[in-house]
Amino acid sequence: MAATKKKTQRSPEQGEKAMIAGILEGSPEAVGVAVIRLSCGCRKMAAVSLAGEPASKIIMYRDQAESVCAQCKQDNGDYMRVTEQFISWKEPEPDEKTRRTISAKVLGTTEDLPN
Ligand SMILES: [Zn+2]
Repeated sequence: MAATKKKTQRSPEQGEKAMIAGILEGSPEAVGVAVIRLSCGCRKMAAVSLAGEPASKIIMYRDQAESVCAQCKQDNGDYMRVTEQFISWKEPEPDEKTRRTISAKVLGTTEDLPN
């Protein structure tokens, strides 16, 4: 069996982190970035404010690609294809109660936080 010659590649998560950092930089009032991962590999992101309001435009991107996939172009990243969603908080993170309130408002769930 031939050895895989793939070099260590930049993972999508690294691309995601870079995007989050960029969004936070461009959104001074943001306390975090809502990240929505889609089954096709594309991502939707938007900065959120302390009030749980959007603090930036919704950004759609596909890691290491110039644009999102054909499917996303068509349905704009339909929620049916969401595989994971969470908020990446800016340091220092808001307290737990605030995080929960914002998550509920932005994502409609608090599942990712312990009770
Ligand atoms: Zn896509």
